[in-house]
Amino acid sequence: MVPVIALVGRPNVGKSTLFNRLTKSRDAIVADVSGLTRDRQYGEAVWQGKPYIVVDTGGISGDEEGLDLMMAGQSLQAIEEADAVLFLVDARAGRTAGDEQIAAHLRKRNKHTYLIANKIDGADPDAILGEFATLGLGQPLGIAAAHGRNINPMLDAVLNDESLQVTGEEGRVVEPIGTKIAIIGRPNVGKSTLVNRMLGEDRVVVFDQAGTTRDSIYIPYERHEKPYTLIDTAGVRRRGKVFEAIEKFSVIKTLQAIQDANVVVFVIDAREGIVEQDLHLLGFVLEAGRALVIAVNKWDGMAQEEKDFVKTELERRLIFAQFADLHFISALHGSGVGLLYKSVDQAYSAAMTKIPTRRMTEILEDAVTEHQPPMVNGRRIKLRYAHLGGSNPPIIVVHGNQVDSVPRSYTRYLENTFRKVLKLKGTPIRVEYKGSD
Ligand code: GDP
Ligand code: GDP
Repeated sequence: MVPVIALVGRPNVGKSTLFNRLTKSRDAIVADVSGLTRDRQYGEAVWQGKPYIVVDTGGISGDEEGLDLMMAGQSLQAIEEADAVLFLVDARAGRTAGDEQIAAHLRKRNKHTYLIANKIDGADPDAILGEFATLGLGQPLGIAAAHGRNINPMLDAVLNDESLQVTGEEGRVVEPIGTKIAIIGRPNVGKSTLVNRMLGEDRVVVFDQAGTTRDSIYIPYERHEKPYTLIDTAGVRRRGKVFEAIEKFSVIKTLQAIQDANVVVFVIDAREGIVEQDLHLLGFVLEAGRALVIAVNKWDGMAQEEKDFVKTELERRLIFAQFADLHFISALHGSGVGLLYKSVDQAYSAAMTKIPTRRMTEILEDAVTEHQPPMVNGRRIKLRYAHLGGSNPPIIVVHGNQVDSVPRSYTRYLENTFRKVLKLKGTPIRVEYKGSD
């Protein structure tokens, strides 16, 4: 499972600077997708090829209001749900009462905490060590988030820490088999109802899974002799047992489920249409490159003109996810749910597709013949061959000269061509370049 790291600390210590630095590499993908605004609090990042989730718990102020107040809401939830906490302090400002309060809280919660002294540029390293070591959270590691100093050693210490890996593995009690489907959506859109519908009550063996409220429930099952594992973020199967100290809906749980799934079934409430939070969550699905099926739920009992309006509106706002099938369903009555599986299966095989280099190169050659890449500095960009560099999402690696100068519009053209020729429905695809000059 994807580890979660929370950034904690007083205002102005540099949390959002660090957040931006860690998640930057991925920004380009989503920034390119019009209509999506990013949720600056949650980000996906990659370290040594492995994804992780960063949460900026901006809400902690460290002032005199008292710890309970200031650690309210999502910030507190994020700390509880994180695998590791990076506790940032300001090396220039020195230790403050706010730092001490936060440190006391982290010690009490027994969280896996790393003490990070930011802004070491221009500060005396020895003085910092002495000053912050007394917070009772070990020796601080000095970094400069704004200048990228010591970021790699910090990530190495945190993400290659063995205790982190252990927590991650324990979270998943049942080994998933077959297509992993995550049911994702805001609170009350009908996820639980849909999970029950998709499973079909009597066929399913329900495992009594341990774990914390943070963990999604993994439900392996068979349908028409095909194996699936449903990742239930709504926690249907645990309802009634309850130690729901934490809110039922958790962004972190949702992000982890997206990362861990092959196909995301994204549930929207037809009666509410698409709201900002839907777009944020969809942004994460695209960023993670997951195959996607969109289920517009609660389609029952809607007037015809209402349906027409919702359809038009959705098509307009979901233009960035055109590759995904759209289904209008009623989880409550079961209508349209069977058809979801058709799209899920199709999206899965598109996401997992295997194509020989010879065929990929043929498609590239045809595309280039049809529509040449532009000239740059008096020389034409040359694209020579292509191979499939990964799956879920499919990554199309194009080799050639001056590839850094390929315009976005041309990349989109290639993407569309490969999608059309290979009939890749239901999955995002990525085009990457490898230069030979
Ligand atoms: P946050 O409130 O904890 O999210 O803090 P910000 O990320 O907004 O940073 C607060 C201020 O500290 C900004 O003016 C940053 O430019 C500055 N800052 C962040 N990291 C560093 C650093 O490594 N060195 C220095 N000198 N300043 C930094
Ligand atoms: P979750 O929070 O996303 O898991 O949502 P639930 O499955 O708990 O559903 C929230 C509410 O919407 C419940 O009252 C459901 O009965 C209702 N609901 C779910 N699906 C449908 C549907 O297809 N049609 C209608 N009319 N109501 C639904």
